[in-house]
Amino acid sequence: MKVLVLTSGGDAPGMNKFLTEVYKKCKDLYFAYAGFTGLVNGEIYPFKDVFDARLTNCAGSMIKSSRCPEFKQARVFNKALKNAKDFDVVIILGGNGSEKGAKRLYENGVNTIFVPGTIDNDVDDCSYSIGFSTAVKEGVYTVENTMPSIVAFNNACLFEVMGRESAEICKTVAKQVDADYIVADKPDYEELKNVVLKRYIKNESACIIVRENICPIDEMAKKLNELLGMDIVKTQIVGRTQRGGAPTAEELSMAKKYAQEVCHCINSKVFGVRILADKEYKIVTKEFK
Ligand code: ADP
Repeated sequence: MKVLVLTSGGDAPGMNKFLTEVYKKCKDLYFAYAGFTGLVNGEIYPFKDVFDARLTNCAGSMIKSSRCPEFKQARVFNKALKNAKDFDVVIILGGNGSEKGAKRLYENGVNTIFVPGTIDNDVDDCSYSIGFSTAVKEGVYTVENTMPSIVAFNNACLFEVMGRESAEICKTVAKQVDADYIVADKPDYEELKNVVLKRYIKNESACIIVRENICPIDEMAKKLNELLGMDIVKTQIVGRTQRGGAPTAEELSMAKKYAQEVCHCINSKVFGVRILADKEYKIVTKEFK
């Protein structure tokens, strides 16, 4: 069976492990370079040409990823569709945007299999996407490596974590570091001020986790410092380490499980499906919504 794989949207740690595990079972494997972009442009090559076992447990994607907004346009989509139809199966690893692209290909006659590969953990009906565990680990690591310095000065700190519109990373990091407060939506500055003060008067330091895309955290800190009449609120952006960090053991194990299920679907000729992890992290296969 002629199988095509692509990684699309934001890259996520564990993608390389997934690719390696699929390749182990599926030797006639091809890839589209940088996701839907390569599918549109016909940049499709044998996977063996790029496979590098040394990258298996590293973050990133051996076959590259990209965002391809023009893929939604009918003329561009039809070019991708034509190239996709050369394959018996197309595996798409990406986030909720990529899932829409996978579904559209399926509705147009391509045997697609979608796998959630995104640090944001925002794919419907899925409790665990490839990349999430590592993104959380990096958030926790940054907080734990910053707070001692914040505490030394009796300051407070706002930490910005990724997640686009999803608060999953924000909430999980906050839980793991036992943060004082979460800003997952529009900030309530009075409440934030009180959180900082409550700690400050005891010579302690507030740790606050902020989801990205709400408001620049420097601005947030400036407003808070003005309200407090002191310059004690500092900021730290966790940033791209959440994508580039070494995958956790859990990540590698889940990526392998996803790959095994994909291979099982291919062998059983089950297509037009989303492979998901349920609340117990058990892998389940569901049809596109
Ligand atoms: P992610 O997959 O990580 O959520 P994006 O939201 O950027 O990242 O989506 C990745 C790509 O999926 C987009 O660049 C686009 O090519 C494709 N995509 C997104 N939304 C749609 C849609 N409604 N229909 C078809 N393709 C889409």
